[in-house]
Amino acid sequence: MTSKRIYILGIIFLLSIIYFESAESQTSTKKRRALVIGLDGATGSIVHKRVWKDKKAPTLQELMTLGKNAPCLHDQRDSCARAHSGPIHDTNFYWKTGPGWASVLSGADSLNHRVKNNGHEYLQTFSESTKNYPSFFKRAKDARLKTAAAGVPAFISGNGDKGIEFGVTDYECGLHGNGPNVDINATESCNLDFRKSLDHRDSGRDEKLTRWLIDHINNSSVDILMGVYDRIDEVGHDNGFDGNKKYLNVITETDTLIGRVIRALKSRVRYQNEEWLVITTADHGGHRIILWGDHGRFANQDNAIPFVVTVFGSNVNLADLRYPVTHMDVHPTVMHWFGMSSPQANGKIQGL
Ligand SMILES: [Zn+2]
Repeated sequence: MTSKRIYILGIIFLLSIIYFESAESQTSTKKRRALVIGLDGATGSIVHKRVWKDKKAPTLQELMTLGKNAPCLHDQRDSCARAHSGPIHDTNFYWKTGPGWASVLSGADSLNHRVKNNGHEYLQTFSESTKNYPSFFKRAKDARLKTAAAGVPAFISGNGDKGIEFGVTDYECGLHGNGPNVDINATESCNLDFRKSLDHRDSGRDEKLTRWLIDHINNSSVDILMGVYDRIDEVGHDNGFDGNKKYLNVITETDTLIGRVIRALKSRVRYQNEEWLVITTADHGGHRIILWGDHGRFANQDNAIPFVVTVFGSNVNLADLRYPVTHMDVHPTVMHWFGMSSPQANGKIQGL
């Protein structure tokens, strides 16, 4: 073999190494992470109006534009995402916070998790039903993924208007007396590696949640991170969950906070080696009664919610949403993102 041929073969050899190495780095699995953004009491049709008509929710608009969204032009539209069936199939059930997040966490409908309302007497059913329908937190933690969540009652136990109020997430860890077997100040639990309880009476709780989420995005190795924003629900109760100015404004305020979280996610040091699934949804919507608002049993208004699936840093082309879209779809979608099946419940995989 001539030296010229050896030289050419050497070049080909080197180029092939470079090619295969770069091909491998393209197909190598990036570290997958997931963020679930909960918007307590966000009525789907009003969020839709705030994003697309008023154009006053640029972060949600970005999430919807980049991802797949269940549009909700009016709360009676079939395209609106819905909370669990609740009072539609059993009048004893309500569209409330505890039952709503129970459905999101477990992927199960209210008849399966049997959480009918807030308060220990109702939430405690989750301690039993979760054995058949474990939360995505518990399943992920058992699979050695790191989980983290923060929020107020009835999502996570903490202080509220009536003193200590309980959260459905903690009931997965079993019962202790007249509450769940998790201290309200606990920083971890059976289903969470990082747990943060926020005070429902603290007007700065959504700001604190934002900082906590950003902190975990920046510093920790959390695989599944969830935060529930609470002030939309509070303003809805005080003024109505409809198109009134204060309710519209709190959607914009929350959008600004979420914007900081998404910016932190995008600028995260390891972002280039990661791909993030971001799901945004609510526990329930709400309606207006004269001067204030409530939610419980009004079909359409109380169960129309936003549902958005977005990916960042990923080559995954999201598939169109499969209707009807419900917040129970969060569980199988998150599990699927981490290569885990979820055959047991009512939700379906969305976007992936
Ligand atoms: Zn409420």
